Amino acid sequence: MSKTQYEQLIPRFLKYIKVNTQSDEGSNQVPSSPNQVAFLKDLAQELKAIGLSNVRTMSDGYLFADLPATSDQADLPTIGFIAHVDTADFNGENIQAQIVENYDGQSVIDLGDSGYQLDPAVFPSLKKYAGDTLITTDGTTLLGADDKAGVAEIITAADYLIRHPEIKHGPLRFAFGPDEEIGKGANHFDTEAFGADFAYTVDGGPLGELEWETFNAAAAHVQIQGQNVHPGTAKGAMVNALQLAVDFQLALPVHDRPEKTEGREGFWHLIKLNGTPDEAQMDYIIRDHDRQKFENRKDTLIKLADQFNESLGQDRVKVSLHDQYYNMGEILKNDLAPVELAKEAMTDLGITPIIEPVRGGTDGSKITFLGLPTPNLFAGGENMHGRYEYVAEEVMAAATDVIIKIASLATSEK
Ligand SMILES: [Zn+2]
Repeated sequence: MSKTQYEQLIPRFLKYIKVNTQSDEGSNQVPSSPNQVAFLKDLAQELKAIGLSNVRTMSDGYLFADLPATSDQADLPTIGFIAHVDTADFNGENIQAQIVENYDGQSVIDLGDSGYQLDPAVFPSLKKYAGDTLITTDGTTLLGADDKAGVAEIITAADYLIRHPEIKHGPLRFAFGPDEEIGKGANHFDTEAFGADFAYTVDGGPLGELEWETFNAAAAHVQIQGQNVHPGTAKGAMVNALQLAVDFQLALPVHDRPEKTEGREGFWHLIKLNGTPDEAQMDYIIRDHDRQKFENRKDTLIKLADQFNESLGQDRVKVSLHDQYYNMGEILKNDLAPVELAKEAMTDLGITPIIEPVRGGTDGSKITFLGLPTPNLFAGGENMHGRYEYVAEEVMAAATDVIIKIASLATSEK
């Protein structure tokens, strides 16, 4: 299928990114920002207009919709497709997309008048896109392909299937949710109400990405109590909380930091340090694909605090931990059928599946643990979360193809 088959795909995408749907880390509202609520409300109208049924907004802000089967086959699985509507923590106001047609794979692309450029020498991924039509930012905002590309692809696929009832498929479910970027959106995803047997988030990067393993993730807060006295008479009396914080960080293995790890290597990442000699706080995130190593990393912090307290003779260092999400591979590995189906769909379309563990999480990490197996498919975006973000129209069309193919492959009437 070529992109010309999906007339509405790019117009839809360009319309969605015009709306600033940045989520708000500091908010206690669900969804975290009013713009997301408004966007989801408009989306509900659109889902009804294209002919989806049972369009409903759940109490956690998620928008659900159904598409009944066109196949008479009994016992077909119900398959879900999920995308998030919020964008990352970077300017998302007044997005002015640029369209670069028939990119030559080597030129430097000026991002508007911003002085920023997409340069293949800096971003070698650009070289893959010779002959493609790229959508970029003007350098002042992010693009929002993460995950408005996924939203546009899923809705375009649904629209296409509705217009082409001759394509046989089983029952389908669609979900669009808030607050993925602040790690909250899928916390209470109602898998029962959604009613799928398995699902896919369409929230990955370049062509072919198919992900079924993520990090295990925890956050650690380290609270340090010092003892501050005048520095002139401090000998033997002062306990400098900031010094303890520095010592604590230096006691961790130097290699196990984000900037020194890749592949399946995990880490402790110090994301915040502040304080005075009197008291200090540190925040870490802990990541590892391997569950046991992940648990060991959490233990290491607890043991380190114990050692400090022992040698100080006082309880001055306190670690509190909380788990954020788990590696969905732990569950998906027990039944790889959804992954195999996506692989088959891509292969049939001439797309080489790229299966690598995500060095991060997806909404699927949470949704899978809530009982709905949910690997992640590519949506097409590159350099996500900033001004260098871009996406190729051809890859967005390919992602739409994959969704349609997965839906139809589940039947035997291919
Ligand atoms: Zn995303």
